[in-house]
Parts: sequence; structure tokens; C-alpha cells
Amino acid sequence: MNTLTMAKNEIFPMRKPKKWQTLLVREKNIKIMRWIRFRDRNLRKKFSILNHQNLLGASITFGSATMMIIGAGLYIEGMIPAWLAIVSNAIFASLLHEIEHDTIHNLYFKDNEKIQDILFWIVWIFRGNTVSPWYRRMIHTLHHKVSGNKEDIEERLIGNGMKIGILRLFAMIDGNISAILNFRKLAKEAPKFKKKEIVKESWPWLVVFYTLWYNFLGLNLIHYGNLILGSPISIPYPAILESVRTFLNTIAVIYMIPNWIRQSSIQIISSNMHYYGDVKNINHQTQVLNAWFLAPLHLFCFNFGSTHTIHHFVVNQPFYLRQMVTPYVHPAMKRYGIRFNDFESMFRANRYYAAKSQAG
Ligand SMILES: [Zn+2]
Ligand SMILES: [Zn+2]
Repeated sequence: MNTLTMAKNEIFPMRKPKKWQTLLVREKNIKIMRWIRFRDRNLRKKFSILNHQNLLGASITFGSATMMIIGAGLYIEGMIPAWLAIVSNAIFASLLHEIEHDTIHNLYFKDNEKIQDILFWIVWIFRGNTVSPWYRRMIHTLHHKVSGNKEDIEERLIGNGMKIGILRLFAMIDGNISAILNFRKLAKEAPKFKKKEIVKESWPWLVVFYTLWYNFLGLNLIHYGNLILGSPISIPYPAILESVRTFLNTIAVIYMIPNWIRQSSIQIISSNMHYYGDVKNINHQTQVLNAWFLAPLHLFCFNFGSTHTIHHFVVNQPFYLRQMVTPYVHPAMKRYGIRFNDFESMFRANRYYAAKSQAG
């Protein structure tokens, strides 16, 4: 100890560490879990409707699907503008995404596989740009077991662990580009990943969705590209092509763009909030991403970055309850060492520690 430090210690005697600062990681994790469960219990007592979980799950599913149909109808009838149909359908589709996730964890209709299958079909049809919910059940359950490791198919498929850059960006916003970039590595490193299986499990909705999506992008690229370049293709388009483009544009507003926005929002958040490569315990699996400027993304993924860490600690909580306990649980998470808004991790390909300071 040098003289300066000694002098400092005489003026400001070393403070005794707070009790929570000396806890072991395992003890801190248990404290966080207890906080979540405590707040969960209190809320369930206070609002008895929360105990009717099946009813809530079914109502949100049918309600959101109906609202998407109404949004589509109003837009087709010319009663609402395109942007409103897109925003509204993206939000309702994001609720369906949460329902899929909760049903994967058996939080609705636990003992009734048939009803779960109905819920799965609805959430898949209304959000076509995903693998089938039955396949996702396998990769998501695996995600909870091996989060942050090479075997974590679900997160690696959306770019988690990749270097920051243009390829990573495309992996986060386009499932097919991600497939091209990641399938081979996954087949080698994740024993549960079978290329044939995921292709089979994408049929039919993912295939239908992407066929429509790329035709929509392609035809509009030709159309607007031609206009911008001063119409070098002077021959008028065949009428059939133009009516296909108009049809696809309508489907895009009510279905494809909302789902692309929803999916990109959750994938950008999820892919960056999960740590990858040096994850040893639950405390290091995720960070909380709740910076104010992420609000536009959070609008379309039910505040995922803010609440998903809670889900890693306590799995059996429906999404709305996870959101409700958030304000109470975040202070405890901060105290027990969960990182908040660690944007630097994006430059470390989602590693928890900088490469040199493993002990961190
Ligand atoms: Zn989960
Ligand atoms: Zn996760």
C-alpha cells in the first residue's frame, strides 16, 4: 500500500461491504428468483383474474387474431391508412408470439394437447415467418438448458455469437440469409440440429410466407428501380404482373410487413441480450436491455429486452405477469450483478467478458 492510499484510508476508513456484495453468485441467483416469485405471488393475490391463466391465454390468442383480421379488413376497405394497419397488426402478432412461447412452456392448457395444438396452429398461421411451433418447442427448451453455448440452436439461428457487421445484421432480419450463414456451423457443433428436420418443420407456412415476401420485394424493386432510373424498361408490364404486384402489396401491408417488423424487432433484441461463448451460469446468460431508444423495437416484441432475463430465472410465468413484476425485480437484479444495457458486448460477439479479462 503506498503512502497516498494509506493517508486516504485514514481519512476515509474502508467501508464494510454490504451483505449482498459478499454473496456467492449462486446465492445471488436464488435471491433474484425469490424476488420474482414473491412479486408474482403478490400480484396473483391482488388480481384474482391472473389465476385464470387458460382463459387469459385463449382470450389473448383469439382476440389478437381477430384484431389482425379486423385491421386487415379496415385497410382493404380503405378505412385506415397502411401505416396504421402495419403497426396495429405487428403489435397483435407480437402478442401471438408471446402466446407461442408461453404455450411451449405449458403455461396454458397444460393437460390438453389438442387445445395447445389449436393455439400453435393459430399463432403459426398469423405469423408465418417462423419455424413450426412444435419444432420451436424443441429448440427453445434446449435454449434454456444450453443458453450461450454452441448447442444453443435457437439463438445462433438469429445471429447470437456472430461478429458485429453487415452479415450479422442480415442474419438478424432474414431467416434465409441466417440459414446460409449458420446452418453448416450448427450442423457441426450442435448435435440436435438436423438440416433436414428444420427444413421439414418450416413447411408450409414459412415457405408460403417467404415465397410471397421475396416476390413482393422483387416485383417492387423492379417497379421502383425502373421509375427511379427514368423508365428504361419502356414496354408496359404485362397486366397480370402489375395485378400480382398490387395483390402482394396488400398482403404485405396486412401480414408480411407487420410480421417482418415484429420478427426483426425481437431478433435484434434477443440476439444481442443473450451472452455467448463464455457463459458459465444463469447470471451470465443474459443482460437487461431497456435503454429508452430501444422503445420502437420493444413496441413490437412486448418489451422483450426488459423482461426476458426475468424469464431465464423463473420460467413458469406468463408474459403479462413477467411484465408486471419487472419494475419490482429490476432493482434487485441490478443489486445482484445482472448487467443492464451492456452495449459493448455487441463488439465482443456477445461474450460476457472481454477476451483478456476472463476473471472479470
Ligand atoms: Zn422460454
Ligand atoms: Zn433466452
